[in-house]
Amino acid sequence: MNAQPKCPKCGKKMEEGCTLGRAEFPAYAYVTVWTSGVPKRGKNGLVDIDGKNVIETRTFRCSWCGYLESYAIKPN
Ligand SMILES: [Zn+2]
Repeated sequence: MNAQPKCPKCGKKMEEGCTLGRAEFPAYAYVTVWTSGVPKRGKNGLVDIDGKNVIETRTFRCSWCGYLESYAIKPN
């Protein structure tokens, strides 16, 4: 992966970050994850990821147009 990719939409530099899901307590959040397969929701409305391959995502944001590009790469 390129250390600082350029936006595929406008060609400007992209900033590294991540997308977060907000937790119930407003000062904390969860990093989004990628997993294979079609998501199945349980009775509680949450997606079951038990036993699945789960990888945290990293996202780059174009500071010019706002385009987001995400990667799910396993840590070494
Ligand atoms: Zn852009």
